[in-house]
Amino acid sequence: MTKRQYGDELGFSTRAIHVGNDVDGETGAIRRPITMANSYQLPYDPTELNWSDAGGLLYTRNGGCNQHYLQQKLASLAGGEDCVVLASGVAALSGLFFSLLQSGDHVIFSSVTYIAVYRLLHELFNNKFNIATTIVDTSDIEAIRAAIRPETKLIHIETPSNPVLGISDIRAISEIAHSNNALLSVDNTLASPFNQRPIELGADFCIESLTKYINGHGDAMGGAIIGDTKLLNQIRTQSQVNLGATISPFNACLIMRGVVTLPLRMKQHNESAMKIAEFLNEQDWVRFVAYPGLKNHRQHNIAAAQMSPGFGGVLSFGLNADHESHNRFVDKLKIITPAVSLGHDESLIVFIGENDERQHLYPNEFHNGFLRLSIGLEDTNDLIKDLQQAIGLGGRG
Ligand SMILES: *Cc1c(COP(=O)(O)O)cnc(C)c1O
Repeated sequence: MTKRQYGDELGFSTRAIHVGNDVDGETGAIRRPITMANSYQLPYDPTELNWSDAGGLLYTRNGGCNQHYLQQKLASLAGGEDCVVLASGVAALSGLFFSLLQSGDHVIFSSVTYIAVYRLLHELFNNKFNIATTIVDTSDIEAIRAAIRPETKLIHIETPSNPVLGISDIRAISEIAHSNNALLSVDNTLASPFNQRPIELGADFCIESLTKYINGHGDAMGGAIIGDTKLLNQIRTQSQVNLGATISPFNACLIMRGVVTLPLRMKQHNESAMKIAEFLNEQDWVRFVAYPGLKNHRQHNIAAAQMSPGFGGVLSFGLNADHESHNRFVDKLKIITPAVSLGHDESLIVFIGENDERQHLYPNEFHNGFLRLSIGLEDTNDLIKDLQQAIGLGGRG
């Protein structure tokens, strides 16, 4: 069986299904099988092999075949030349930083990012590896321009940002980065490649936590970096051969299955989250709602320009109530599950309190405690009824 080629002329959904899959040469199965092997057969004379090669098939820590199939699919969906898939979203972030940065380099990153970015760059890398960091509100282009130094190597942004749903202008920031010899990485986890493709907007790297929308079923962890082959090859070797952050074949296979329905799922997440954001926005028991699809969102215009067709399924909101009432509200929910993570089939909610250590980096309205809600694939009306009954409106739902 020859490997089928799929070009860019095919639509997103067609590529989500077909790229990376092929007929199994041995059995004729129309799904590539899961290969739970640690090692691959050596050639007659193995002495010429590079034991640290992370591109071929030799030893599964260096990379496995199920991982390679998933990489083909994700590179295509994210609009990049190449992709490396790793054990988690954080493995992707740390692999990128570890491979790219040298002592003496300077990094600019968003004031609101996934917590591991703050821990890695601002607590670990600057102390251990002498890497300078500047934290800026990257929704403010002038603040980024002002933070640039001759030794700035990387700008890292997250848009929409977790958990405050701030938006940064990918194209404008990529222009600042490139005119100053720096690279731009964008954590695209909250949008997913269905709604936003940072590489097409000028970013050098797109980071995805596959644990979230891309797998979508809450049962496997993974992470990906999409970008150009040359830089990704370094990351591949560092992350897998040296750091051992390789994804298991089983998780790669689960995610390969999950991503097939990404377009259908994202349509429903987008539509349902928009309706629920609008609903919450009209309630007098709601203190504020942050959702980039709402016209009252601070950076709605930028979101609308770089996200399409929708704004994802995550929103944050605060109640017109005290700390304890937020806990009581979550406790009364019957469908929406109290748990961290996002992008699952089921709706998830988490109360982020007034004592969050990065509170001072959040916009003011987030200072009194708030709820991050990841809208799942349940019927929208059931979710609205659940929210109503938990606040004490609309009976027992
Ligand atoms: C969850 C998340 C990550 C980390 O991904 P893991 O797979 O949990 O390691 C990174 N960035 C964002 C925006 C996330 O939401």
